[in-house]
Amino acid sequence: MHADTVVGRATSTPSSAEKAVAPASAGASLIDGTALAKIIRGELAEEVRELHARGVTPGLTVVLVGEDPASAVYVGAKEKASREAGMTGETIRLPADTSQAQLLALVEQLNADGSVHGILVQMPLPKQIDPDTVILHIDPKKDVDGFHPVNVGKLLIGQADGFAPCTPAGVQRMLVHYGVETRGADCVIVGRSTIVGKPMAALMVQGGAGADATVTICHSRTRDLAAHTRRADILIVAAGRPRMITADMVKRGAVVIDVGMNRIADASTKSGTRLVGDVDFEGVRQVASLITPVPGGVGPMTIAMLLRNTVRAARRTLGA
Ligand code: NDP
Repeated sequence: MHADTVVGRATSTPSSAEKAVAPASAGASLIDGTALAKIIRGELAEEVRELHARGVTPGLTVVLVGEDPASAVYVGAKEKASREAGMTGETIRLPADTSQAQLLALVEQLNADGSVHGILVQMPLPKQIDPDTVILHIDPKKDVDGFHPVNVGKLLIGQADGFAPCTPAGVQRMLVHYGVETRGADCVIVGRSTIVGKPMAALMVQGGAGADATVTICHSRTRDLAAHTRRADILIVAAGRPRMITADMVKRGAVVIDVGMNRIADASTKSGTRLVGDVDFEGVRQVASLITPVPGGVGPMTIAMLLRNTVRAARRTLGA
């Protein structure tokens, strides 16, 4: 028997059914990111209606420089999701030869615009623009991506008034929603990037709900990766290596979160490619207790958390 999708029964508070995940011998239950993101977007739409009543429409402005096709898809999805939640979602498209000074001038303009609550500059940027300089210019109160050093610092010291990066925040929300016991759990993170691995570790090591874990971060220089992953009660993988985590690297009953999104060749599909994660899903689901699929796992949560951060930014302008 294979995985069951349990999110259909999900509410904001985990039900006892979700807490009691399927026994490992029966195969892992699925963490359904698409369904959970839908619940969150519904909650946010309600909050947005309240803000409308107080005269505020949360606004997210995404800046896209150049014509990277993958970025164009992400940006379109963010704009659509913002609008569906009743927010203002605007995308400003700039040509690939935009100078750093021009982009910084736009960022300053958005910082000063009271109708813009969240600013996101889509990465990667063309080579003439230094991403760190751009991030540094975004008003930390509008940095809904959570990449500004002020927000990174707040995350590390556990100050709740900053913005946590969307992908790790989405992962943590999944763990909370599914009633995963994180307190005292061995949480092993594969990947140490600034956008996923490091902030993920910073979230899991804080005190409180969905955290209080004992955290290990692994990377390409880690000696004997499998010795670490096999110890994990919660294994979070963000390495960008297709199906690198195999069943023999996972402890029976572990919760496995696959952040990876890798496009691989697959002649059997119309496009000739297929999206896979960093986890060998078919093998690992036989030993894990809960697992995220790719697609339909972490991906949809990232956008939901972006909207949440924007609503939060708008709420703060009211001092709420
Ligand atoms: P990066 O390439 O920035 O970081 C990858 C990390 O994995 C690095 O720290 C690297 O180590 C480590 N790593 C690579 N190979 C190995 C290995 N063999 N063993 C151990 N560690 C390894 O990637 P990102 O963090 O940006 O993204 C990771 C994955 O997550 C990608 O597939 C990306 O597409 C996906 N992603 C998905 C999102 C979503 O919304 N679902 C959002 C963001 C990313 P080192 O530092 O030593 O090089």
